Amino acid sequence: MSLFEVPGWNVPAAPVAQNNKKRKRPGPKDKDSDDVDEAERIHAAQKNIEKLMRSLGQGMDALDDHASATVSKKKQKHEGKEKKEKASKAVDKQGKKQEQQRGRTADKTSKKGGAEQRPKSQTKSETDAAAGPSSAAKQEAHVSPAKNKKKQKRKQVRAESVDAGSEAESRRESLPVVSVATPSAVKATNKGKSKDEEQGLTALQAGLRKKLDGARFRWINEMLYKSDSGKAHELMSQDPVVFADYHVGFRHQVESWPTNPVAHYISSLSSYPAKTVIADLGCGDAALARALVPKDMTVLSFDLVSDGAYVIEADTCSRVPLPGSEPGPGGGKSDGEGQVVDVVVCALSLMGTNWPGCIREAWRILRSGGELKVAEVASRFTDVDDFVSFISSIGFKLKSKDERNTHFTLFEFKKVPRQPFSDQDWTKLSSRGSILKPCEYKRR
Ligand code: SAH
Repeated sequence: MSLFEVPGWNVPAAPVAQNNKKRKRPGPKDKDSDDVDEAERIHAAQKNIEKLMRSLGQGMDALDDHASATVSKKKQKHEGKEKKEKASKAVDKQGKKQEQQRGRTADKTSKKGGAEQRPKSQTKSETDAAAGPSSAAKQEAHVSPAKNKKKQKRKQVRAESVDAGSEAESRRESLPVVSVATPSAVKATNKGKSKDEEQGLTALQAGLRKKLDGARFRWINEMLYKSDSGKAHELMSQDPVVFADYHVGFRHQVESWPTNPVAHYISSLSSYPAKTVIADLGCGDAALARALVPKDMTVLSFDLVSDGAYVIEADTCSRVPLPGSEPGPGGGKSDGEGQVVDVVVCALSLMGTNWPGCIREAWRILRSGGELKVAEVASRFTDVDDFVSFISSIGFKLKSKDERNTHFTLFEFKKVPRQPFSDQDWTKLSSRGSILKPCEYKRR
């Protein structure tokens, strides 16, 4: 059964583009109203989660006790005194800010007719910020109301440090961390029993947990599409569990598609010469490298979080750590120099609002005449021709376009020489990122 098959919280098989119909508001649409809108939606989502958590009640407490006893023993070993002191100092600072945020939240809720105010954090991540996704995957994170105050405070401090200025952001830290197992970890614990059975969850509890998983996936997804990649990178560096959680949901989602872009690329790139160098920008769990490296191909995989093996950590919209230059400032078109990459793959990975930076980086690292392969969710396109002409303006020529798939569209471009960009040119170009809509997985 799919992760999200829960009445009321179902996710459609195919991601759907943002639909603004329900959110029409009178008055001019500006950045402030967008922020308020986002904050309100996050707040509403949290209320739902709160309700769910209350329903979990004693059962989840018992589960929490069991799991936290196991996890905290291990964790205590790693947590030195120094870290605790740091956290408590930061918490002191944090206290004041939280008071202010609570004040603002109370203001808003009372304006909305005295809706019930959210109790303070009900979040608990058992994962240290320094732990990688694989270690996170071994843990069983869970929902617990006001269980371990110190850990909650540390979590709050982390969230605060990501973006102290935004109320919507400050609420994020109150979202529950749930089910951080990766598919491989799930397999490892599945000796004849489902994970839910292993944890002794009743059907109701398992159902509620799925709802929480779905809510959290949607929240992370939205954050990835609606923030600058620098912000997403910072958040994931501080709490890699976010990355692991996202990929559990992403895999479930994509598995329900008839086929997926990575499968397509594995098959088409398999016939390339063995020495081909491929850069996979936004590689996720590096499925491409896992399939092609054993076939003697060179696949360099980049994503916001490293797995310690295949994946190199990088914000691909900002800087891919590979050689290659932009055209020299001397004037005239050029390919730049020093590149080693033959093919760049961007499979469903043009996510941050600054995604044009990733295309520019792809151009910089590609050899003269190199190939750029882009796959994007079909519903994200405002206008496919606009998208093609935009990519072309960064120094590419369209070779082929494949719109046959119901879920995603495939493009192949060839790198062509271009003029250098002035800062002004680039500011203008990169502001056109909205030609791709965010991809939202709707709650049904
Ligand atoms: N290409 C993979 C994963 C797709 S999910 C596949 O098709 O299976 C999208 C991935 O892009 C996520 O792992 C996300 O972390 C990554 N991503 C998005 N923006 C990124 C950025 N600026 N830098 C690096 N990775 C990014």
